This record gives sequence, C-alpha cells and structure tokens, in this order.
Amino acid sequence: MISNKQIADLIFPDITETIEDLEKRFPKRNLPTGAEVTRFAPSPTGFLHTGSLFTSLICRKIATQSNGVFYVRLEDTDTKREIQGSGEQLLEQLKIFNVVPDEGYLGNSESGIYGPYIQSKRADIYKVCIKYLLEQGNAYPCFCSSDELADIRAKQEANKILPGYYGAYAKCRYLTNEERYEKIKNGEPFVIRFKSSGNHIRKIKVHDLIRGDFEIAQNDQDIVIYKSDGLPTYHFAHAVDDHFMRTTVVIRGEEWIPSLPIHVELFSALGFEAPKYAHLPVIMKLDENGNKRKLSKRLDSEAAVSFFLEDGYPPEALIMYLMTIANSNFEEWIFQNKFEHMEDFTLSFEKFSHEGALFDLGKVNFFAREILSKLNKEEITLKAKEYAEEHNPKLLDLISRDENYFKEIMNIEREKENPRKDYEKFGNLVNLIGFFYKDIYEDLVSQNGFVFNEKFDKSTIKEVLHIMKDKLSTDNIDEQTWFANMKEIGTGLGFASNGKEFKANPDAYKGTIGDIAEMLRISFTTKKNSPNLYYIMKVLGKQETDNRLDKVISSL
Ligand code: GLU
Repeated sequence: MISNKQIADLIFPDITETIEDLEKRFPKRNLPTGAEVTRFAPSPTGFLHTGSLFTSLICRKIATQSNGVFYVRLEDTDTKREIQGSGEQLLEQLKIFNVVPDEGYLGNSESGIYGPYIQSKRADIYKVCIKYLLEQGNAYPCFCSSDELADIRAKQEANKILPGYYGAYAKCRYLTNEERYEKIKNGEPFVIRFKSSGNHIRKIKVHDLIRGDFEIAQNDQDIVIYKSDGLPTYHFAHAVDDHFMRTTVVIRGEEWIPSLPIHVELFSALGFEAPKYAHLPVIMKLDENGNKRKLSKRLDSEAAVSFFLEDGYPPEALIMYLMTIANSNFEEWIFQNKFEHMEDFTLSFEKFSHEGALFDLGKVNFFAREILSKLNKEEITLKAKEYAEEHNPKLLDLISRDENYFKEIMNIEREKENPRKDYEKFGNLVNLIGFFYKDIYEDLVSQNGFVFNEKFDKSTIKEVLHIMKDKLSTDNIDEQTWFANMKEIGTGLGFASNGKEFKANPDAYKGTIGDIAEMLRISFTTKKNSPNLYYIMKVLGKQETDNRLDKVISSL
C-alpha cells in the first residue's frame, strides 16, 4: 500500500521543512493590542485601478490608526497575465498618493522579515504547505487533460447541474495511491487539487467587519492549488501568505465574497486561524441606460489613477473623494476641518456603506479646487511645474518663459481669506490662462475672433473700448477705485451702473456696467469667462491691454 506521505515525497522530494518550521521562521508579530496588520496584494497585470487605490488607502488608514502595519505583497503567480514593470509602477503611483507601505514589496526593493513579498519567490513555502495537505489526504494530484475537463463540463451543462470539479465529477479524487504513483513515475503532467469536504447545499456563517454576519454556500469544488508550472494559484497562495505574514484583517473588494467559502475552507484544512475580513463596496458608474455598473478599466478613463495624474489633479483630491466613499461622515468632517489634515479623521468599518458608490468626478473637482486654492503662489507654481515637466510640455514652455510672470497669473485672487477656486487641475491650465501670453492670445483671436453680445452694434462697442483705453487704468489704484472709475466712465456713456437700475428703466440705458466688463473681458481674453478682470489688466499691463484694445477696434 502506498501512503499519502509517499505520494507527497514523490512529488516534493526536496521539501524537508514543515509547517511548524514556517511558524518559527515567521513568528507572530509583537504589536500592541488592537493593532491591525493589513495588506494590499496587487497582481502586476496593469495600471493602478481607482478601486485598488481605494483598497490600499483603507488598508493604510486602518493600519495607521491602530498602530499596526501595512504591507504590500505582489501576487504574480499568474505569469501569463503579468505585464513587465507594472509592479514597480503600481508602487510609484501609490507613493504619489501618499499610500506608502511600512513593509513588503516596495517596487525595486523589499523590506521586512516576513518576505519574500513577491509570490513567485515563495514557491518553496507553498510547497511545504501543499506537501502537508497531500500527507493529510486533503489534496491530490490531478491528471485530467483539458479535453477531459471540457467533457465533464459539457455533461454538467447538459444535465443542468453545477459545473466544476467536485464530488463524483472529481475523477482523480478516486484514483488509488498506486495509480497516482504510477502516473507520476511515468511522467504524466499533473496539477494538485484541494480535496474539499464541503457541500454547496450547506451554508457557512461568516463575519465581515463591514457587512456583519451572513451565510453563504459552502465550497465543494476541488480547486487547483498548484499548477504544472510549479506555482500555486491565488486562492492557495493568499491563504498561506496571509497566515505567515500575520495579516489580521484582509481588506479587499467585494468581488472576492464569492471566493470566501474556498478561503475559509483552505485556512481550516491548513490548521490556520482565518483572518478577519472587510469586503469594500465597489466603485460604480451609471451606464447610458441609467443602470449602475462597475467602474470599468476598458470604458472609463477615471478607472485608472493615471488619468488623474496625467490630467494634473492634486492627488489629495482623489484621496479626499475616496474617503467620502468610505465613510459618508468624512465629508462633513473635512468641511469643518477646512479641507486640511485629513489624516486626523478616524475611519470606521461600521460606518462603511454596503452599496457600491457612484463615481462622481464633480466631487473630485470640488475637492481639487479647494486644495489648489489654499496653495500660495510659490507652491502652486512649483506643483504646476512638476506636473508640466512630467506630462505637459506646452505648460512647461509657458512657465519657463518667465516664471515670475506665471506666478503673477497664478496669484490672481490667491493668498487671501477667500481665495478664488479657479483651478481644479493643471491639465487645462494652458486653456484657462493661455491668453496671458501674446502668441496664444493671437492664436485664440484667429480661432475664435471676438464674439460680442449681439445686442450691441459695432459702433457702440468701438466707442466703449476707445474710451476705456483712454481713461481706464489699473496703475497705482486698487480694485475698488478701478471699478468705481469704470462705472463713472460707463454711466457717462449711457450705461446703467447696475442691473437693478437697468431693469427699472431699460429704455433709458444702452446696457449695464456688466456689459462693459464683458466687452473688455472678451477683448483681452477672447472669452466670456476668465479670472478677475482687474487683475487680468494688471498682469497684462497698460501697454498690452492698449494693444489688445487697438486690435479689437481695428477688427470691428
Ligand atoms: N491579487 C488579488 C487581486 O489582484 C488580491 C485579492 C486579495 O486582496 O485577496 O485582486
């Protein structure tokens, strides 16, 4: 009679370590009571998804606020899906968002005693655990070819029963050890499957820190835990790693809830205590029919955090927004705290919503405007420059022409009690402030021309612009005086000094002072919306505003 141990030794002759040895090699962490060990476990299969940033943010926050540890583990056992370099990139992007691990895989290096933190480098650790399951009779080699698996599936589909490799369909479960020995000796390729003792008709109770207690059908699939390439599958690897890296709470997206029964069973078969779980709500989007769907890498640009970086959003804006998705009371809190020190907010699993939140770019914009408005002119210039160097040569060109001039533009209605919130990202800065630069202004004029309100004829506009050119200046006067001057000149030309006056007697006036401001605005910028007119004139200087007015007048 060939024993399970003989099969295990035949498959893994070089593995001499035991689970007890691993327990010693990776001792329990010495942390204060209540400290949580969390992990972010990305697969290096592409860019950092907004949902993954959300998960890693929550992991970081829970570890920080409990004086615990947050580590990163690279889950690269699915070598076919791996994209070279994406692991490093994920870590770089996390850093930009200030989600920095205490230990683990750091991109180009690793730190911590629970490593290696890259799964493909942990093959021997997994083998120890698989060998143990083989010895216990809780795992077995499976020699089924893909054709045989397809046959099983076809039969199940024809009979309308649950598909998969389980119970009576798990053919290789029923081989004798003699048959297994023979096949392995003959060099037949195989994988190793977990021998499930569950039944999907029965339910297990699980507890989730966000969702509370719930019931879910037991696992009964004999899942593959070890592939023919010598690496384990995700399900198996994560159970081993979360145990030996001493994770206390697994925080991940709710799409993993269906796999929970497999995980719970694996932990138990390995004799490990299962960690706590917190399954986060997924981030959703409304489709064209108004139905909620998961934010999609393929369809939604905001699904990739690179979208926010390339567009020049302040990273904190996305983080603030993700915090509102996590705990809805954060929004009120951050208002009260004037959009500062968000690290002082205490996140709670109980306050998490269970429903997938709809992604709201408007809210990201809102936070971004608040954040950028609080920077002084030096800070915003530095950030704009850093962004431009990386992503926006056109903006870099403008900044480099004359950094002080750029600073003056950025300083319009900044550095005061209620700064203006004109900017949410640097990506559209050239569009918003380009007119301050002569060449771009010229381009705008040739593209857009000057589109004035049709209720004024050319001669009225000409007259207004002429007089303003002669009489209106920002030199050595403050905004109030400048505005009073504009009003005085305007009323002299037959314009009402405000809307109320105009409405009371519309026939008595050509228009309002607001109309005059609009004429000037269009003349200087070609646009109807712009930063504060007084400061535009001040930054451009008298000479340039005169040139621009001349240009408009001669075009009329
Ligand atoms: N590697 C898995 C993923 O890519 C991690 C899931 C987990 O956190 O357990 O999503």
